[in-house]
Amino acid sequence: MKPISVVVHGALGKMGQEVVKAVCREPGMRVVGAVEQNTREDSLSLPDGSGKVALSSDLDKILTDCHPDVLVDFTLAPATRAAVPVAAKRGVNMVIGTTGLTSSDLDEMARLADKHKVGIVVAANFALGAVMMMHLAKIASKYFDYAEIIELHHNQKVDFPSGTALTTARAMAQAKGKPFSLPDSEQGQPPSGRGKQVEGITIHSVRLPGLVANQEVTFGMAGQTLSIRHETINRECFMPGVMLAIKEVVKRPGLTNGLETLLNLQEA
Ligand code: NAD
Repeated sequence: MKPISVVVHGALGKMGQEVVKAVCREPGMRVVGAVEQNTREDSLSLPDGSGKVALSSDLDKILTDCHPDVLVDFTLAPATRAAVPVAAKRGVNMVIGTTGLTSSDLDEMARLADKHKVGIVVAANFALGAVMMMHLAKIASKYFDYAEIIELHHNQKVDFPSGTALTTARAMAQAKGKPFSLPDSEQGQPPSGRGKQVEGITIHSVRLPGLVANQEVTFGMAGQTLSIRHETINRECFMPGVMLAIKEVVKRPGLTNGLETLLNLQEA
């Protein structure tokens, strides 16, 4: 079968470099081009020693010259916003991991995907273990009234709580059908100094060098607790999810938001 050809947008960034390495390793896929802003080079040496591919800051030129099946984007939200119409017009499917996109960005992506009959998979978290942690937390939410989240990230992360922790807390309350209960001492009190309270769940944010991205959801009821913990060691943790999305996006026209559908995780 013909390999799936991939262009990486943001190819010299931290995630972009991981994607180039992972695609080179993956059977049935190959990197055919790279896009990076302000680059002086016109080619990128592939990390597996298999040769060089075209590199440019001009996305449209790379897509026209390289005819990829999929554009993988890990850049910045404004760069992604500008790239989506260009790739859609060229009939190129997209896998998007850039964060900071709004719901109107997602609506526009869905419109462009339908108009140009391309697939777009966008996911704020490509770590498959994190997706499963959220799914399992949703299932457990029906049986517990109390829960807290501890999210632990590297000390360069500027936002807190993390987007994943906020999404988890909201999804847990939605699955439960109501907010969780705060401890009696905090009921009706001003916001707690213990952490950010979302849907009755207190989220604690730890920022330390040495960490990548970890999250633990702990539920409590009389005489017992249940913890669901996801840990990551390095950025490679996102690659199985990105590889899955590349394989799936070529078969799925339209917008797919999140990896749950690709993993066949039913609504909890
Ligand atoms: P980074 O700063 O290391 O890399 C971003 C790259 O994009 C840089 O090389 C930058 O030069 C390039 N870029 C920016 N604007 C561009 C443009 N207009 N044209 C071409 N290239 C452009 O950042 P990173 O750590 O690789 O993260 C990238 C994005 O991915 C961020 O939004 C981050 O939050 C997100 N991210 C998502 C996941 C996930 O699972 N979805 C995981 C990690 C990071």
